[in-house]
Amino acid sequence: MELTPAFSGLVCTDCGSNFTVDVDQRCPDCEGVLEPTYEYDSVTPADLFDGGTTTGQWRFDALLPFGRDSAVTAAEGETPLVAADRLVDELGVGEVYIKDEGRNPTGTVYDRGMSLAVTALSDHDDPDSLEPLALASTGNSGQSAAAYVGRLGLRSYAFVPSRSAFSNKAMINVHGGQMRVVGGRYADAASAVDDQLATDYYSLQEFTTPYRHEGAKTVAFELYADLDELPDVVFIPTSTGELVAGIAKGFEELTEIGATEETPTIVAVQPTSCGPIAAAFDRGLDEPEPWAHPDTIIGELEVTDPAGGAEAVDALRRLDGAAVTVDDSDSLESATAIAQHEVIEMGAAGGAAAAGAWNWQEADQFSGDETVVLLNTESAVKTPDVLRSHLMGQGV
Ligand SMILES: [Zn+2]
Repeated sequence: MELTPAFSGLVCTDCGSNFTVDVDQRCPDCEGVLEPTYEYDSVTPADLFDGGTTTGQWRFDALLPFGRDSAVTAAEGETPLVAADRLVDELGVGEVYIKDEGRNPTGTVYDRGMSLAVTALSDHDDPDSLEPLALASTGNSGQSAAAYVGRLGLRSYAFVPSRSAFSNKAMINVHGGQMRVVGGRYADAASAVDDQLATDYYSLQEFTTPYRHEGAKTVAFELYADLDELPDVVFIPTSTGELVAGIAKGFEELTEIGATEETPTIVAVQPTSCGPIAAAFDRGLDEPEPWAHPDTIIGELEVTDPAGGAEAVDALRRLDGAAVTVDDSDSLESATAIAQHEVIEMGAAGGAAAAGAWNWQEADQFSGDETVVLLNTESAVKTPDVLRSHLMGQGV
């Protein structure tokens, strides 16, 4: 694939070694996470935002590793930023928008990073040698991986826990991916990848490929492009850490190229019953401790030992962010209320963003004139059963 002019390779975030794109998993020296880097002095805001006629996130390829002409893409990104005026009064803030990532090709924000991760493989000398490609997933990223790897015609495996949503399992197969359903929870699926694949494989796991969190940063670019300025507070449903780390990097890059001077407040929202990143942030730890007894009905957010936990905590500290935990019932209530009043089909995981904003309102954390963004990370069609059963539990 074509590398972009400003891209200057991958750097290990642990030992500082530099690598070309030929080394595109963890650091071969120390197993650290590799981070794409750029010559920011060579990129202007006009370079980043004058994207021509390209549809989707690849219009921002001035700050992506690969050029739009070589992208493996289904026009992911460029999702609507929808004004939610009723919530303005309810939250007591200036403006509220829902960034609806449910409208990505496979209904998830993870399509952004998967498009980058698969593009990295698109002109490989010997593509068959990459097989199988594999990852563990709570569901959405496995579905996305099956879809994008299908564009290369290669074999992929998604390891999902038995509790993963039926729609995810079905669509992994519909997209042509292989699936292993692992009894138990996400941690069981994660450990099954090495146990069950008796061969080398190419990992599409977040923070093993350097590109999945890199794709998430285009959310930050789009928020700036749509609002002509940055929002003040962004609520992000948080599981693996890749969205917090990626979106924070995007905001920081806008300051690096001189588009803005400040970054928004990022609020990581996790379930009360599985909040390792929030706990680490609140306790001043550099890295989350694995959550021992998870118990959330929102399977997408049940990641007990997040691969990007340290990166997410670090990003929250750099950007003077915050972390909150919310009860499942509040997340589901928020998602159904938004479906009933704001049209948008907010997934169960997305509902956590709105519940987090309510948490802030109740704690008197808003000053009253903020522009607030709620990141809806997935479409409600992923988990209509979970949302409907919440209503039935209310006697509806
Ligand atoms: Zn290293």
